[in-house]
Amino acid sequence: MENGAAQPVIVAIDGPSGTGKSSTSKAVAAQLGLSYLDTGAQYRAITWWMVSNGVDTGDADAIAAAAGKPDIVSGTDPDKPTITVDGVDVSGPIRTQEVTARVSAVSAVPEVRARITELQRTIAADAARGIVVEGRDIGTTVLPDADLKIFLTASPEARAARRSGELKGADVHTTRAALLKRDAADSSRKASPLAKAGDAVEVDTSDLTLPQVIERVVGLVAEKRAGK
Ligand code: C5P
Repeated sequence: MENGAAQPVIVAIDGPSGTGKSSTSKAVAAQLGLSYLDTGAQYRAITWWMVSNGVDTGDADAIAAAAGKPDIVSGTDPDKPTITVDGVDVSGPIRTQEVTARVSAVSAVPEVRARITELQRTIAADAARGIVVEGRDIGTTVLPDADLKIFLTASPEARAARRSGELKGADVHTTRAALLKRDAADSSRKASPLAKAGDAVEVDTSDLTLPQVIERVVGLVAEKRAGK
């Protein structure tokens, strides 16, 4: 296969919450001139729609029946990623604690995953220069032929510390418990759980700064492009 700079490159970055996935993915995409897709935001957006429309997020059948209704559109510029539902900007509302607490139940429903996975594949196929896609099942299920698959990990302590920093001083113990609960749900669901693909490169970010992680991933993309 030819790997010249003009070839679109698809990078899948998976891993649990608080490993630096979003910051890394955005920065790598920006540095390399690639598109960027935050798939967690899409699952959050469909969860926000369910909550806003009175769908019981504990009722998998009700979620499945409504899964096709919201129109979710993701903007893929890494410098200003956007997300709308039925034309409404939901970038703020999808980050509330209520949505965060319910998203694992909604994302576990196969009809939701089928719908969102199809959107993700279309976006990746349309990215002329290539794309960095971050999530939980990108390397295993959504884009199994990605040129490069990265699986980011970090100790629970490092992840909780980062998340509570992002949440502006939220209690570390509460954050750690909520984060581990969500990861356990995401890892144990039947439909495309959070998992490392067999051919993914694992990067433990516990003791690395964000610039170090970015440099590592950019280096791995360069190696792939050079055909190494
Ligand atoms: O990445 P973020 O924390 O915003 O993801 C929110 C939730 O979306 C995850 O906890 C998970 O339930 C779901 N998700 C998923 N598959 C992906 C990305 C996110 O199930 N590829």
